[in-house]
Amino acid sequence: MATWRDRFPGVTPAEWGDWRWQHRHALRTAEELARVVDLGADERRGIAATAAVFRLAVTPYYASLMDRGHPFCPVRMQSIPVAAEARSAPGDLRDPLGEDRHRPVRAVVHKYPDRVLFLASDHCAVYCRHCTRRRITGGEEGAFEREALEEGIAYVRAHREVRDVLVSGGDPLSLSDERLEWILDGLRTVPHVQILRVATRAPVTCPMRVTDALAALLRRFAPLFVVTHFNHPKECTAEAREACERLVDRGVPVENQTVLLRRVNSSARTLADLNHRLLAWRVRPYYLHQGDLAEGTAHLRTPLAAGVRILEALRGHTSGLAVPHLAVDLPGGGGKVTVQPGYLVGPGGPDAPPAAAGTASVGEPGSAAGHWFRSYRGELFFVPEPPEADCSCPYDEVFYA
Ligand SMILES: *Cc1c(COP(=O)(O)O)cnc(C)c1O
Repeated sequence: MATWRDRFPGVTPAEWGDWRWQHRHALRTAEELARVVDLGADERRGIAATAAVFRLAVTPYYASLMDRGHPFCPVRMQSIPVAAEARSAPGDLRDPLGEDRHRPVRAVVHKYPDRVLFLASDHCAVYCRHCTRRRITGGEEGAFEREALEEGIAYVRAHREVRDVLVSGGDPLSLSDERLEWILDGLRTVPHVQILRVATRAPVTCPMRVTDALAALLRRFAPLFVVTHFNHPKECTAEAREACERLVDRGVPVENQTVLLRRVNSSARTLADLNHRLLAWRVRPYYLHQGDLAEGTAHLRTPLAAGVRILEALRGHTSGLAVPHLAVDLPGGGGKVTVQPGYLVGPGGPDAPPAAAGTASVGEPGSAAGHWFRSYRGELFFVPEPPEADCSCPYDEVFYA
């Protein structure tokens, strides 16, 4: 296996391990990328055709993981554009999640009752070719200056229903420790904010960003979760492991969100392997995202059935801890919903499964004698309903008095 030293001769370990060096030396052109991989015609066309539309940057670290000769390398497919990215497919949307209509101020998306997305930066160390927020990370909106961030913090302070703030972007870890600390301080001093989350791809694309100082900084704002974004076992390097374990060892829990990407990670084998590796680092698989309808990403999207089949291959066959929620974020601002394989065959009596298998429904409590399920192995099982259906909790009156 080639190491980074072969691909980046003359770079010292001190430079390599410095996240600012990695950001400064990100590969941004076909010429630069061609030094580390044998660019195919499709990639060359993609780089040229998307140059005016969406940013291109790959840290030397992430580039060092690329398969030099294989165009289906999952690291290449996530970070080097192909020609299809310059095309819009029917249904593609500039703002696929309808966020702009839920943006009371520039830095805040407030779509759910008790939590908000806080946009901290329009920059990333590596620009994912499947980015859902490319209208922001593409640079056309401009940066998030201090004023916009202050306005965002003021919004959170003024809205007492907000108990969870997801700091995202762009990648908040593309900011300096000082700027990040200032943002987290502003949010942490809001009395009704219980939980902070920092959504970042740094452990994947620039693990040297996760220094001891950063881990200590994040720990000071507990309860704070880091939500990261590994998509393929090829990204699970010793450096990535060190970054994740440094956070977890400090007391910062790490969750993972994977985006389901066609021909990158759209197999049960890949995702079971990825999730097993992450769990061994104490990183919990949280969401498996169906690709959003962001412009230029249709070639990376999977049919809905592909995700359901993958979940079906995981559930029961491996630890429940390794099974994420399959989420579809509804276009136009409907929010996330989850999809699962149907294990509930239907209501019925103990003697025979319902004739119309697969038409699952759950009626009023106690309205059926029980329910028929199919197991992860495909066998049918009956679960009887209990004798009583009253589910009110009398002690609530005391506990919440
Ligand atoms: C995904 C998302 C959240 C967080 O959702 P959870 O299900 O709590 O992880 C919050 N706000 C926006 C706008 C989101 O897209």
